[in-house]
This record gives sequence, C-alpha cells and structure tokens, in this order.
Amino acid sequence: RAKSAGGDSSAVYEVQMTGQAAGRLDLESDLRLALQRRELLLEYQPIVDLRSEVTVGFEALLRWHHPEHGPIMPDVFIPIAEETGLILPIGTWVLQEALGQVEQWRRHLPEAANVYAAVNISGRQFVARDFPDVVDAAVRSAGIDPAAVNLEITETVLMDQPGLPKETLQRLIQLGVGLSIDDFGTGYSSLSYLKWLSARTLKIDRTFVEELGRGPHGASIIELVLGMADNLSLNVVAEGVETLDQVNELRRLGVRSAQGYFWSKSMPSDRVPDWLDTLPPGSRRRLA
Ligand code: C2E
Ligand code: MG
Ligand code: MG
Ligand code: MG
Repeated sequence: RAKSAGGDSSAVYEVQMTGQAAGRLDLESDLRLALQRRELLLEYQPIVDLRSEVTVGFEALLRWHHPEHGPIMPDVFIPIAEETGLILPIGTWVLQEALGQVEQWRRHLPEAANVYAAVNISGRQFVARDFPDVVDAAVRSAGIDPAAVNLEITETVLMDQPGLPKETLQRLIQLGVGLSIDDFGTGYSSLSYLKWLSARTLKIDRTFVEELGRGPHGASIIELVLGMADNLSLNVVAEGVETLDQVNELRRLGVRSAQGYFWSKSMPSDRVPDWLDTLPPGSRRRLA
C-alpha cells in the first residue's frame, strides 16, 4: 500500500484511530496548526523517461510530521483537510513550495534544467473561484516557466464536480500550465470530456500497472488508454512501477514516462541533487 512509503507509524496510527472520534478531533485541530508550526513538508518522487531513464519531472507529495504521532501520510489527513476547508491554505502553500523548489533545481542543477513540477490539486481547490489567481501568484513568485508546471487532478474528483468551472480551465490554459488526470482509469471519463478539459497528461493508475503480466488481458486497459491518449495527443505517465518486468512491458507498449518504487520512492528535497547526479540503480546494466 502507498501508505507505507514514508514510514510505517502512520499506518499504525490510522488503525488506532479507527472508530475513535476523539482521535479524529485531535487530528483536526492539530492540522489547523500544522502549517504555522511548519510540520507539513513536501517530498519529491522522480518521473522518468522510460527509454533513457532520465528524470523528466518531480511529483510533490505532502507529508505531515506530527509532533507526537510521527509521520502521517496524505491518505489519512488530506480527507480531513478537504472536509474542513484547510486544504485551501495548505494547497496554496504546497503550490508555492513545490514550484519554488523545482525552479531552484532547474536553475542550479544542469541535469534538472528541463524538469517539470507535478503538483496534486484537490477538487475543493480546483473549484475555488480564486484558484487561477493562486496558481498565477505561485508561478510568478517562483519565477518558473508555466509550461513546466503540471497540476494533477484525480479523475474521480473531476467527475464529482457538477459545475466544473469552464472559466478556471480557460484561465489555466491562458496561464500556460498543464493539467494531468491522476489515477486515470478509475473513473469513467469519456473522450469528449478529456478533450473539453484540455488535459495534457494522463497518469495511468497503479492498479493497471499491477495487472501487467497477469494473464492474457493484463495489458488491455493500458493499450486502450494509449489509444485514447494518442487520439488526443496526450502524454501518458505510468504510476506505481515496481518491477523490471513492468518496465519492459510498458516500454514494449510504448508508454513514454513512468514513476514508481522501481526507481525511487518520494525523497526529501535535499536528496534530489544526489539523485540527479547518479543514474538510478541498475540502469547502466539495463541500458547496456
Ligand atoms: P497520487 O497523486 O496518485 O500519488 C501517488 C502515490 O503513490 C503516492 O502516495 C506515492 O508515494 C505512491 N507511489 C509512488 N510509486 C509507487 C509504487 O511504485 N508503488 C506503490 N505501492 N505506491 C507508489 P502518497 O504520497 O501516500 O500520496 C497519496 C495520495 O495523496 C496522492 O496520490 C494524492 O492523491 C494525495 N496527495 C499527496 N500530496 C498531495 C497534495 O499536496 N495535495 C493534495 N490535494 N493531495 C495530495
Ligand atoms: Mg498525483
Ligand atoms: Mg495517482
Ligand atoms: Mg492516488
């Protein structure tokens, strides 16, 4: 499970909390203070080109280092942040922090000159009237090329928003930032809907990558997605790649880029320069 990515204590904590309203209340009021106490931080997971294994982007993934409970993973606290509205200030901070950080790498690390920043956006942020202004301000204060920014929205969240603001989409297009559809394949998006969204990237959900090599139809969903993507000139990123067999299968299918534990889990920002400096483990052998 994704939850184990940044430490196991969060999983344990979640189990303890189940059925404990008091625990949940605590977490809620703690989350209110987390931003100002600087307990929230971002880790970054590299997104690589499947052929060259060059890092092409970094996805910012939010972590909460709780003073008593230790690391808490986003699957636990993002839902609370969404229900309480705290996702708005938190999401603004995530945008500013991630864009500022990735722009630093683009400027100072030659291997990162062209990397893009992928930032997760919750539905509640996306439908907020001032969302394009928030993005614009973060892009400007970071000084990053807006073309190097990909906003990730999950497919199911998008489908749940009845009056998805067309204005927001138009303004984001004007700003020049890209939209990625996260966890793609778990909802029911139609081709016309994807076109209306003017998405730039489809991120194939990990569950479909897991099916690769399992039976005769293991690749069929990914083949279908690739067909759709090709039709609309969309980029495709495969998520949750863990094994060499999956890498080889995704290459054979023609998927352009990917991320997953096979290359790296998310890492603290200070480990990124070393990451860019050295080829991922095993890649020399595989490319030889
Ligand atoms: P996501 O955007 O689909 O992010 C991918 C998740 O899969 C991450 O979990 C990542 O650590 C995990 N993952 C990556 N590679 C592998 C792999 O090879 N195997 C497995 N099993 N898992 C892998 P994480 O960091 O726990 O994040 C979970 C979700 O929380 C994210 O899913 C995203 O929807 C949400 N999230 C994370 N950061 C933010 C944020 O800043 N804002 C918002 N609104 N949501 C966020
Ligand atoms: Mg994502
Ligand atoms: Mg995803
Ligand atoms: Mg997800």
